Amino acid sequence: MQYDVIVIGSGPGGYVGAIRCAQLGLKTAIVEKYKTFGGTCLNVGCIPSKALLDSSEHYHNAAVHFGTHGINLSNLSIDMKQLMARKDDVIAQNVAGIEFLFKKNKIDSFTGVGSFIDKNTIKITNEDGKTEQITGKNVIIATGSKPTALPFLPVDKKRIITSTEALELKEVPNHLIVIGGGVIGLELGSVYARLGAKVSVVEYEKSIIPTMDAALGKELQRVLKKSLGMEFFLGHKVTGATVKGKKVTVTAENAKGEAVKWEGDYCIVAVGRTAYTEGLGLENIGITPEERGKKIPVNEHLETPVSGVYAIGDVIKGAMLAHKAEDEGVFVAERIAGQKPHIDYNLIPGVVYTWPEVASVGKTEEQLKSEGRKYKTGSFPFKASGRAKASGDTDGFVKVLADAATDELLGVHMIGPRAADMIAEAAVAMEYRASAEDIARICHAHPTFTEAFKEAALAATANRAIHM
Ligand code: FAD
Ligand code: NAD
Repeated sequence: MQYDVIVIGSGPGGYVGAIRCAQLGLKTAIVEKYKTFGGTCLNVGCIPSKALLDSSEHYHNAAVHFGTHGINLSNLSIDMKQLMARKDDVIAQNVAGIEFLFKKNKIDSFTGVGSFIDKNTIKITNEDGKTEQITGKNVIIATGSKPTALPFLPVDKKRIITSTEALELKEVPNHLIVIGGGVIGLELGSVYARLGAKVSVVEYEKSIIPTMDAALGKELQRVLKKSLGMEFFLGHKVTGATVKGKKVTVTAENAKGEAVKWEGDYCIVAVGRTAYTEGLGLENIGITPEERGKKIPVNEHLETPVSGVYAIGDVIKGAMLAHKAEDEGVFVAERIAGQKPHIDYNLIPGVVYTWPEVASVGKTEEQLKSEGRKYKTGSFPFKASGRAKASGDTDGFVKVLADAATDELLGVHMIGPRAADMIAEAAVAMEYRASAEDIARICHAHPTFTEAFKEAALAATANRAIHM
């Protein structure tokens, strides 16, 4: 079979790229080694984790917050089998949706491991070892990533687990030890803390979510400790873990160099993800993944050193986020079709789906400082928001960073109710290079959480917040 474009990997990068190629009239094939489409995101990432976050949030609210609303429940219990079955159903609906979209767009799909024979020929090896070959004028590598392993801490997938197994536990742990206070550790840690587990987070850096604006990590740690009893051990270097029966012992070195240990029944290793290129046959076309992180090198057009071979998503540099992968899929499809697309990597929002939610776009205050940029800040706490008081979600704040001279928005960082959805307003504003005053002068519906963004923008505009 001869195609204009062959996409390897059907995660959000690959499937969106394939659909955009087909929309542009390119004859497109997609190769996926798993039985279902959608990659990490739909099968073992974004979607199942959000399903469990939603279920556990309902339980936590019913157990802890309903009483204050005058709703009294007794004998609450968790049916883990049903909770996981619902999550599996959510996955099934989503992956079926991708299959439908492939058919609708007349994209040919192949199941099996795709590997390069040469830059235009892809061999597909299915589960039974049967092979077939297809050729394409262009190839897009979208093979994603896998959890990073710590060489001194072997994952047994039963007691020492990654996010994948953590999405399928049959019981609520008594004591869950989470290695890594990043996005996965905090989201999945929250799930089980809400369901009743004691959760201890061991993080190497001095702050959780260390790559986000420092104010966010500080507030999130405070709230997760207060509301869910989560414990945090920052500045701790994990040195190993052992399993004995149902017990896991994790050892680490604290900032003073002293040995510390925790005993639990499960341990999630969530220390980042590594680009996945195994079995792709990159050596056959002369592409060498980078030493650090195993990323495939690409230029500003997301083309590898081999012309006509592109790479997108988690397998290349940049944030490992589904929406970044999707935008890159569209970008490459449009490049192949001769268009001149653009991605502003500074404006890719980042979200942590804890409660309160955390969301950011643009530069952090730490980045502005290190760049020597002159900026001003404005902040507004949710405890001063009428909508937040009504819903009982008063933790967190919105922080606006604007250029000291021009007032242009440089970064917006929020922690609070529905921040995941609210960050879109900031991304749109920054895409159009709005000033803090622009936001402050736009009418925001009352009472909504979005008023906190307007108030923070007012605060940045000559300290003019109204409700504070
Ligand atoms: P992937 O989604 O990893 O897809 C790659 C696909 O390629 C896989 O299906 C794989 O089987 C296939 N493949 C690999 N090699 C071959 C081969 N040789 N032949 C054929 N097929 C191959 N991001 C967000 O933006 N929001 C979230 O809320 C979020 N939550 C997450 C929660 C968890 C628990 C995890 C683990 C990740 C989460 N992410 C989230 C990150 C997100 O899942 C990834 O950034 C995204 O899936 C990357 O998309 P991708 O298309 O690059 O690769
Ligand atoms: P991460 O990079 O977010 O966090 C890993 C954390 O582990 C970091 O804080 C790091 O300092 C710490 N760490 C590293 N080595 C350590 C060690 N030896 N001991 C203790 N701590 C250590 O990675 P993640 O949480 O594994 O997530 C992987 C990727 O998946 C991320 O890039 C993220 O973007 C993506 N993801 C996104 C979402 C979302 O968008 N909501 C959700 C889940 C995952």
